[in-house]
Amino acid sequence: MKIGPRPKFAAYRKILEKKAEEVRRSMSAQKAAQVVARLDVPSDEGDLSQQHHEEWIFLNRNTIDMKLLREIADALHRIDAGGYGTCMECEEPISPKRLDAVPWARHCVACQEAIANRVALGEYAGEFQETR
Ligand SMILES: [Zn+2]
Repeated sequence: MKIGPRPKFAAYRKILEKKAEEVRRSMSAQKAAQVVARLDVPSDEGDLSQQHHEEWIFLNRNTIDMKLLREIADALHRIDAGGYGTCMECEEPISPKRLDAVPWARHCVACQEAIANRVALGEYAGEFQETR
């Protein structure tokens, strides 16, 4: 098996890099918005619960973004190191249709569904759950 960057994944590399850039940009935009909001909101007690709620949304949103960034970085690594576009569970090729929809996919549709079922049953920690 030949290891190295594969030209046929060059398009996905571009998509992944663009997506990572978008996520990073939206994260810093959120951070900036939050800093501005903090400056605007006087810290009296009436606003506190609302502020906590917004903070929670912000953190939650950021956690998803961080996870997505990590998955994109992993996918880019697999393009370089080999293994991109191959299911990590059954080692079958992941369909181009699926890669178009989720370019950072690590599993084929069948395996992803099986994993989602196991996650739903509580047999799996969230780690293998797909970020969208
Ligand atoms: Zn599979």
